[in-house]
Amino acid sequence: MQPDVLVVGAGFAGMYAIYRFRKQGLNVQVLEAGSDVGGTWYWNRYPGARCDVPSLEYSFGFSEELEQEWDWPEVFSAQPDILRYANHIADRFNLREHIRFNTRVTGVAYDEETRLWRLQTDTGESFSAPYCVMATGCLSVPNRPALPGAASFAGLELHTALWPKEDVDLSGKRVGIIGTGSSGVQAIPELAKAAEHLYVFQRTPVYTVPANRKAMRDAVQREFKDNYGAIRDMQQNNAGGVSNFRPQRSVEAARRNPMDGPGAESKIKALTPAERKAVLKARGLETLLGFRDVYTDPEANEIANELFRDAVRELVDDAETAEALLPKDYGLGCKRQVLDRDYYATFNRDNVTLVDLRATPIEAVTPDGITTSAQRYPLDVLIYATGFDAMTGALLKANITGRGGQTLNDKWRVGPVAYLGLQMRGFPNLFTVTGPGSPSVLCNMLVAIEQHVNWIGDCIDYLQTNHIDSIEPTEQAEQDWIAHVNEVAEGTMYTAPSCNSWYLGANIPGKPRIFMPYVGGYPQYKARCDNAAREGYSGFELKRSA
Ligand code: FAD
Ligand code: NAP
Repeated sequence: MQPDVLVVGAGFAGMYAIYRFRKQGLNVQVLEAGSDVGGTWYWNRYPGARCDVPSLEYSFGFSEELEQEWDWPEVFSAQPDILRYANHIADRFNLREHIRFNTRVTGVAYDEETRLWRLQTDTGESFSAPYCVMATGCLSVPNRPALPGAASFAGLELHTALWPKEDVDLSGKRVGIIGTGSSGVQAIPELAKAAEHLYVFQRTPVYTVPANRKAMRDAVQREFKDNYGAIRDMQQNNAGGVSNFRPQRSVEAARRNPMDGPGAESKIKALTPAERKAVLKARGLETLLGFRDVYTDPEANEIANELFRDAVRELVDDAETAEALLPKDYGLGCKRQVLDRDYYATFNRDNVTLVDLRATPIEAVTPDGITTSAQRYPLDVLIYATGFDAMTGALLKANITGRGGQTLNDKWRVGPVAYLGLQMRGFPNLFTVTGPGSPSVLCNMLVAIEQHVNWIGDCIDYLQTNHIDSIEPTEQAEQDWIAHVNEVAEGTMYTAPSCNSWYLGANIPGKPRIFMPYVGGYPQYKARCDNAAREGYSGFELKRSA
């Protein structure tokens, strides 16, 4: 039977899409490249992988039963537990029967005559449906830089985002890792414990804050579960989609707000140097991100950056290594916050060497290691922690062709053009979940995913009820939305000239430099989406065939 909706991807977005669309009576078919559910948490199995949003918040709110029956073992869960959660959801709601695994979509084309989307796969099959939802993820296309000689490496080559399911034995091995973003920072302390020697090839030093390492206390989990209704409401009203709920019953008052920084309106510039140090000593490095002016005022930003650098100098024994680990040419707030567990202390180990690629760039990867401008590093294992072709990568790789033969690659030649990160003009009835121009990666992603899938489900329902054949944004709505996305990002550290982040596409050579996520806040964004729907899908063109 022809499905009503084809969904590409079985990460959390594709999984919730099955649940939601099926509930409204739609016949759903999901196509997934991996062999099982979980998306990010299926692919990123590297040692140390875990979430940077508390697990009780980074969880679905669509089912009260699910909320109540699932227990998280840690406050910030590790990848195996998040993958276990994804599997539980798949089992509990019988999702797998709708998913075709080991099936990569290689072409997505609109047939104007039949008004159907036709999807081609690498298994040689083809699927058609009137609606297509790309739940392909913002961080699902691993970036492997084109280093000279890369293909010649004869040892074991790994990427953090394509980590094998089987255990990787690093004992007695000389291991090299390229990349010190969130993935590298999480993996490096664990790799150092396992390898004979670890060489960290660092191009850009990173700002990190210590991760919360707490095991989940039963009483805290109980209190969250008792308050989940209110917590989900609080998430809806928070810019980043997190409730920041603080347990009242199960945590004594003196320890209640250990993560609280200064008030949202406080400014680092308003404090004296001694006061700044005192606040930092009392509350830790994460305090720096609580000051509003750090995000918008370059002078305040540099004050915070320098306090951060001083803290690192104290953590790393070797002065030269410490200096090489200090970010100096961009500021806090430009990139996504990186959480670390013993990252700096790892560089005090005898079996860890930091290789500063700015001082001594890689000249070539050779069959037996890496050669920099200074020396040869023989390696048994080479690990790429080099990130992703983010936000647009998976959509462009799917080879999408819309009305009149227009390809998405052509439409997005100078950067992504979309309305609300949900739809693109010229691609009727094709939807993106957490697409460019939506809060997505600046938000608790599970909150963003539920909101998008709900909006798409409601939209399809509206189209069917009103016998409307197609929906796509107007050109004006797309242009206005992009102007707004740029306007709210302007003047923040995210778009500072010194900032080179994957939010801007700056990590991929040749990618247009455009700030892709929506920085205006989740509640404001959701209100825009809701208003458009309430107004009969204002900003969209709805068509009935004759
Ligand atoms: P994904 O989980 O990326 O799933 C997309 C799926 O689509 C993948 O399984 C992929 O195989 C499939 N796919 C893509 N293209 C095709 C194709 N052409 N054909 C078939 N299948 C295809 N977010 C947070 O909010 N908090 C966190 O703490 C957090 N931690 C993260 C840690 C890591 C290591 C990474 C990489 C990301 C993290 N994120 C975090 C972001 C994370 O991606 C989202 O939270 C969320 O898991 C995304 O779900 P998704 O279903 O939208 O996409
Ligand atoms: P990333 O932040 O893009 O970091 C990639 C690293 O690889 C950077 O240090 C980069 O250096 C380096 N690199 C890339 N190309 C290189 C080259 N040619 N030579 C040398 N170095 C090179 O990627 P990521 O660490 O995978 O993180 C991506 C995002 O995934 C995060 O921002 C976050 O949203 C998510 N994530 C979250 C968590 C978590 O804590 N929950 C964990 C992992 C990932 P340059 O900076 O110089 O380019």
